[in-house]
Amino acid sequence: MQVEDQTCLYLPMPYMEPITLASGASYFASPIMATEAAVNALRAGETFYGPTEGTPALRQAICDKYKQQGQDVQPEQVLITPGSKQALFNLFSVLLRQGDEVVIPMPSWFGFHELMKYSCGTLVPLQTKPENAYQLTPEMLRQSLNENSRILLLTNPGNPTGKIYTKEELEALLQVTNQYPNLYIISDEIYDHITYGQPFTSLLSCVGAEKENIILVNGFSKSFAMSGWRIGYILGPEELIKKCINFQGSTMSGISVFVQEAAEATMQQRDEALELMQTILAQNRQLMADTLDAIPGVNYYLPDGAYYFFPDLSAYLNRKTLQGNTLATSTDLANHLQQNYNLAIAPGENFGAPGYARLSFAVEPEKLQEALKRLQKALAEFKKA
Ligand code: PMP
Repeated sequence: MQVEDQTCLYLPMPYMEPITLASGASYFASPIMATEAAVNALRAGETFYGPTEGTPALRQAICDKYKQQGQDVQPEQVLITPGSKQALFNLFSVLLRQGDEVVIPMPSWFGFHELMKYSCGTLVPLQTKPENAYQLTPEMLRQSLNENSRILLLTNPGNPTGKIYTKEELEALLQVTNQYPNLYIISDEIYDHITYGQPFTSLLSCVGAEKENIILVNGFSKSFAMSGWRIGYILGPEELIKKCINFQGSTMSGISVFVQEAAEATMQQRDEALELMQTILAQNRQLMADTLDAIPGVNYYLPDGAYYFFPDLSAYLNRKTLQGNTLATSTDLANHLQQNYNLAIAPGENFGAPGYARLSFAVEPEKLQEALKRLQKALAEFKKA
């Protein structure tokens, strides 16, 4: 075939810069104090193995954060890990044996499911719904817990839901979990500083959390835009932390000291590090809410925290697109948006919620505006049901 013939096969498509709303990382730069502290540490020769459990200064800085919230935690209760994902994998490796169950409210972050493939436990999903504000009720929990339940895995604020559990909700759940002495409650609080008015309560601050079975997982990837530095932590009962330190010592050793110094500097100047990001995210959240409100048939839960909307787009499935295709799943819809509008979204199937999609608003405001225009256009171009 001649080149000229080939070109006739394609309709002229205007070039569209690719935009992604599918990423879990925000567009913000890491705090300047992190970079400066890391560079200073490198220049000072901090290039050797550090303590497996973490530097004393960073462990103390983490304790200070929780002390400010009224919790008396000691550095021996903290393990610095290479990201929260590794913190979770460490805990699953140390805690789970064949036959153990990990109870998890759905929709949930796909990472938990991936990690479980390499761990001994079995996930027990509990469906929560946007019309009930994604509430996990004590009753639901009571019905699913049994002698094999080893971990209740909460994400607060939620990814992808954006739900923040109130103190009362958490305390009601603890009343149920405290009846199971073998059960640990892991609270993944990695989005704890990204909130929009509703107060965030750490599980550790709740009545009923005095027991030796409460574990927090947290990190610097989200609140401080430091995903590439790979740093997080576990805060839990000292005996368990000792086991986690042993696991980390045997598998990967301590986290780079210059990275820990960067994290510590960020924590010392937390408010400065967070201010601009919080302002922009709040504006972006409003923009996304306004756009979704203007699209017929799209329902969503307005996120209290984190930086995602998780709208129900099922009204647009099983309808003909402008291009003449029928899309059966939100994965098909994501592929359609990618191919025809150069726009990436994360399909709901990845989070256990077919028909839904996760849209990040931690995106440069101009790009977000353009992305939302494309989404609006794409959905308007579906043929009428
Ligand atoms: N937990 C949740 C709920 C997350 O969304 C993520 C990242 N997407 C992680 C843990 C992992 O974070 P890290 O970069 O600290 O490994």
